[in-house]
Amino acid sequence: MIDLPFNPIKRAKEVEELVMKGSRRKYYRFRPAKYYGGIATADLVGCPFLCAYCWNYSRNLHPEMRGDKYYSPDQVSNRLLSIVKRKGFNKVRLSGAEPILGEQSFEHLYQVLDGIYKENPVLDFILETNGLLLGYEPRFVRRLSQFEGLEVRIALKGFDGESFEGISGSERRFFDFPVKGLRNLIRNGISAWPAVMYETFGPEGIGKINKKLKEICRPEELEIEYLEPYAFVLENLKNRSIPLYT
Ligand code: SF4
Repeated sequence: MIDLPFNPIKRAKEVEELVMKGSRRKYYRFRPAKYYGGIATADLVGCPFLCAYCWNYSRNLHPEMRGDKYYSPDQVSNRLLSIVKRKGFNKVRLSGAEPILGEQSFEHLYQVLDGIYKENPVLDFILETNGLLLGYEPRFVRRLSQFEGLEVRIALKGFDGESFEGISGSERRFFDFPVKGLRNLIRNGISAWPAVMYETFGPEGIGKINKKLKEICRPEELEIEYLEPYAFVLENLKNRSIPLYT
């Protein structure tokens, strides 16, 4: 078990040690997915947060879980490119966990991107992230800015320190880093937008986050996603006393 709330930067380092071996990272699946109109997806393991509604909760709670394999950047980009070719897609992404945990995992991601764009420069790579390390380590953002087809979706976990702590399990003093990550991306000319989970924000939370983001992006750029009401998700939300809006 893990004590909540935790320091997510410290946790990111610990998790990175479990899911990286040199330049290889743990993944558990490669698949074509229906999202974004069809997208080649590599599902990885390991996240600094432990969101109450995470659909991959047990793997992110126990990144040391057996059965998952370590893949080199070349193996990941080749598998994604082969799905793209087979399915006629024009998009790729990493999903299931957080791509950026620190230096090693960032380098892995960078090499996956490099491998993909050397083979197919016109693909859209959608980087789904919680934005923590992009706010904490701005140098990562500067390196990403060389990939023109990169689009970054930052899933924000709260509209204030308290809601962020409840949802992500992370100490509230880290609330601002994902927002800083979004600002860093946009300032570096990278296409990026925020996303929030409607049921945990509600209209009031959405109003508050739009106010916080007002100098970074327009309210219509905020993507609203909806909760997958798995039984374990509802149980986690209840255990953390997170109110749900319908
Ligand atoms: S940030 Fe995403 S992957 Fe990480 S725990 Fe939260 S929902 Fe899961």
